[in-house]
Amino acid sequence: MQAIDLENSSREPATVCRRVELQLLTTLQCNLNCSYCSLGVGKVLRSQKSASYTIDQLETFVRTHLADREIYITLYGGEPALNIKLALGLVERFPLARFNMQTNGTLLHRVPDAVLARLSNVMISVDGGQRVTDGFRGKGVYRKVLDNLEKIRGRTDASFCARMTWWSGETSADEIDELARTFDYVYFQFAQDEGAHTPESVAAKKAVLGDLVARFFAAPELYPIVPIMGTVRNKLLPARVEQLSNGLSQCRASTNLINVMPDGRVFPCPDMMYEPELQQGDVVANWLRRSTLQPHPDMPCTQCRAQPYCRGNCMKNLYLAYVRKDARWRESVTEPVCELIRHLGDEVERHDPRGWYAGAPVRVRRRLADAEIYEFCEVMP
Ligand code: SF4
Ligand code: SF4
Repeated sequence: MQAIDLENSSREPATVCRRVELQLLTTLQCNLNCSYCSLGVGKVLRSQKSASYTIDQLETFVRTHLADREIYITLYGGEPALNIKLALGLVERFPLARFNMQTNGTLLHRVPDAVLARLSNVMISVDGGQRVTDGFRGKGVYRKVLDNLEKIRGRTDASFCARMTWWSGETSADEIDELARTFDYVYFQFAQDEGAHTPESVAAKKAVLGDLVARFFAAPELYPIVPIMGTVRNKLLPARVEQLSNGLSQCRASTNLINVMPDGRVFPCPDMMYEPELQQGDVVANWLRRSTLQPHPDMPCTQCRAQPYCRGNCMKNLYLAYVRKDARWRESVTEPVCELIRHLGDEVERHDPRGWYAGAPVRVRRRLADAEIYEFCEVMP
């Protein structure tokens, strides 16, 4: 394990952006058993029941390291609806913070009004339409999530974003379009799984991406699919990427995302909390250093035509492929995902994004440029 140079790490700012997302894994328990859950790696899922640090300790940590930052809090898990007690304590203790919730959606009906009233956004995990989602998550889950959405919509000002893990090559553009009409936003992330991106599956996903991009440019209002929005925004307004993530990975893992395990240990990426050398802080011991997931000379991004809008998409994928030199991960996950990202950018370019933006109504331009949703999800797929 790499020694942590606390003395030197305390001299440089731990976060390089003025806004910082505190992503609190309030529990590692979950009521579902999704087949590919990333927390299953390293046996993280279910390893800690609920937060063992106190809210006082968290407040001291924030005051010590983030006093001059705007913090916003994501309630994450496991399933955060299983630890409502902590959510209630947090909304009370951090009255100025914005809140986001990342949930599987099946227990949303149990979230009390005191929490719902403080949520700016809710990310709800799905895998595609009903058939694909129920296949990965269990029969009836998709319908349950949509029913819950209807039950709570009137009780909160939060936006709702479908967070789709895109595993299956069978997911169609129509299914994703249906999500875009049901939720306020759709964010998709290509599955980080060695079986997800066979050549046939990549070809099918490319066709769907082309279809979705065509729908984006044909829509009279903003077509709310975040990776397409983000690609267009980054191509047209690159300064926005500098503002929100210092021009680095837009999941903020390199800059301003702080994932707190229930035991208080801090990591830059919620998918890699099984790697002790990546630890960047501790709420209980009250220390924090710069993110341990940073661009590395062996990563190919500076030579990549997608760099201006992608900015090193997923640091976990890049780290495993080019720092850890995991050839299998590189070939089966990182490279196919990068190919899909380049394809997405090429499809956007085919539709004259500058001409489209020039002719778009101000409400569409404003939403494309400034949507709050960019702060709550990874932006790039
Ligand atoms: S597509 Fe891949 S190689 Fe290119 S900038 Fe993005 S992460 Fe880097
Ligand atoms: S996109 Fe960012 S937060 Fe998500 S798995 Fe990759 S590095 Fe981690």
